[in-house]
Amino acid sequence: MQLACSRSCGGSLYRALFAEVDLDADGVYQDHRVAQPGYICLNCGAPAFDLGLVPAEMEAEAAAEGPTFIEKADILCPVCETLVQVGDEMECPNCGAPLEVA
Ligand SMILES: [Zn+2]
Ligand SMILES: [Zn+2]
Repeated sequence: MQLACSRSCGGSLYRALFAEVDLDADGVYQDHRVAQPGYICLNCGAPAFDLGLVPAEMEAEAAAEGPTFIEKADILCPVCETLVQVGDEMECPNCGAPLEVA
Protein backbone atom coordinates (compact mmCIF):
# COMPACT_ATOMS: atom_id res chain seq x y z
CA MET A 1 0.00 0.00 0.00
CA GLN A 2 1.23 3.46 -0.84
CA LEU A 3 -1.18 6.20 0.12
CA ALA A 4 -1.00 9.59 -1.50
CA CYS A 5 -3.00 12.73 -0.79
CA SER A 6 -5.15 13.74 -3.77
CA ARG A 7 -4.03 17.33 -3.24
CA SER A 8 -0.37 16.34 -2.93
CA CYS A 9 -0.15 18.52 0.15
CA GLY A 10 2.90 16.72 1.47
CA GLY A 11 1.11 15.20 4.44
CA SER A 12 2.29 11.77 5.46
CA LEU A 13 -0.45 10.60 7.80
CA TYR A 14 -3.67 9.07 6.57
CA ARG A 15 -6.74 7.67 8.20
CA ALA A 16 -8.65 4.69 6.92
CA LEU A 17 -12.38 5.29 6.78
CA PHE A 18 -15.12 2.74 7.14
CA ALA A 19 -12.85 -0.01 8.45
CA GLU A 20 -14.54 -2.25 10.99
CA VAL A 21 -12.18 -3.72 13.53
CA ASP A 22 -13.09 -6.91 15.35
CA LEU A 23 -12.00 -7.28 18.97
CA ASP A 24 -12.32 -10.14 21.43
CA ALA A 25 -13.61 -9.78 25.03
CA ASP A 26 -10.23 -8.48 26.21
CA GLY A 27 -10.12 -5.90 23.48
CA VAL A 28 -7.45 -7.72 21.52
CA TYR A 29 -7.44 -7.10 17.82
CA GLN A 30 -8.78 -10.07 15.93
CA ASP A 31 -9.52 -9.01 12.44
CA HIS A 32 -10.72 -6.13 10.37
CA ARG A 33 -12.57 -5.65 7.18
CA VAL A 34 -12.95 -2.62 5.03
CA ALA A 35 -16.65 -1.94 4.69
CA GLN A 36 -15.90 0.59 2.01
CA PRO A 37 -12.40 1.49 0.90
CA GLY A 38 -11.46 5.04 1.59
CA TYR A 39 -8.70 7.09 3.13
CA ILE A 40 -8.26 10.72 3.99
CA CYS A 41 -5.15 12.80 4.41
CA LEU A 42 -4.82 13.83 8.06
CA ASN A 43 -2.86 16.90 7.04
CA CYS A 44 -5.43 18.61 4.81
CA GLY A 45 -8.46 16.33 4.97
CA ALA A 46 -8.51 15.61 1.25
CA PRO A 47 -9.25 12.10 -0.01
CA ALA A 48 -6.17 9.93 -0.39
CA PHE A 49 -5.54 7.19 -2.90
CA ASP A 50 -3.63 3.96 -2.62
CA LEU A 51 -1.02 4.22 -5.34
CA GLY A 52 -0.18 0.56 -4.77
CA LEU A 53 -3.47 -0.37 -6.41
CA VAL A 54 -2.81 1.59 -9.58
CA PRO A 55 -0.45 -0.86 -11.35
CA ALA A 56 -2.90 -3.71 -10.77
CA GLU A 57 -5.74 -1.65 -12.18
CA MET A 58 -3.69 -0.66 -15.20
CA GLU A 59 -2.81 -4.31 -15.76
CA ALA A 60 -6.48 -5.24 -15.58
CA GLU A 61 -7.29 -2.53 -18.10
CA ALA A 62 -4.55 -3.68 -20.43
CA ALA A 63 -5.76 -7.27 -20.14
CA ALA A 64 -9.29 -6.14 -20.94
CA GLU A 65 -8.17 -4.57 -24.19
CA GLY A 66 -8.06 -7.82 -26.08
CA PRO A 67 -6.96 -11.45 -26.09
CA THR A 68 -4.46 -10.78 -28.90
CA PHE A 69 -2.38 -8.98 -26.29
CA ILE A 70 -2.04 -12.12 -24.18
CA GLU A 71 -0.10 -15.17 -25.26
CA LYS A 72 -0.10 -16.97 -21.95
CA ALA A 73 -1.93 -16.07 -18.83
CA ASP A 74 -2.56 -17.64 -15.48
CA ILE A 75 -6.20 -17.44 -14.60
CA LEU A 76 -8.37 -19.03 -11.99
CA CYS A 77 -10.96 -21.53 -13.15
CA PRO A 78 -14.34 -19.99 -12.27
CA VAL A 79 -15.70 -23.40 -11.35
CA CYS A 80 -13.03 -25.15 -9.27
CA GLU A 81 -10.61 -22.24 -8.72
CA THR A 82 -7.63 -24.12 -10.06
CA LEU A 83 -4.88 -21.86 -11.32
CA VAL A 84 -4.61 -22.68 -15.02
CA GLN A 85 -2.09 -21.40 -17.52
CA VAL A 86 -4.08 -20.82 -20.65
CA GLY A 87 -2.66 -20.20 -24.07
CA ASP A 88 -3.24 -23.20 -26.31
CA GLU A 89 -5.81 -24.86 -24.12
CA MET A 90 -8.93 -23.00 -23.19
CA GLU A 91 -10.47 -25.37 -20.75
CA CYS A 92 -9.72 -26.30 -17.17
CA PRO A 93 -7.62 -29.50 -16.96
CA ASN A 94 -9.15 -30.22 -13.58
CA CYS A 95 -12.87 -29.93 -14.22
CA GLY A 96 -13.11 -29.27 -17.97
CA ALA A 97 -14.89 -25.97 -17.60
CA PRO A 98 -14.37 -23.53 -20.49
CA LEU A 99 -12.08 -20.66 -19.56
CA GLU A 100 -12.35 -17.13 -20.79
CA VAL A 101 -9.49 -14.73 -21.07
CA ALA A 102 -11.05 -11.30 -20.74
ZN1 LIG B 1 -3.30 16.30 2.09
ZN1 LIG C 1 -11.87 -26.08 -13.08
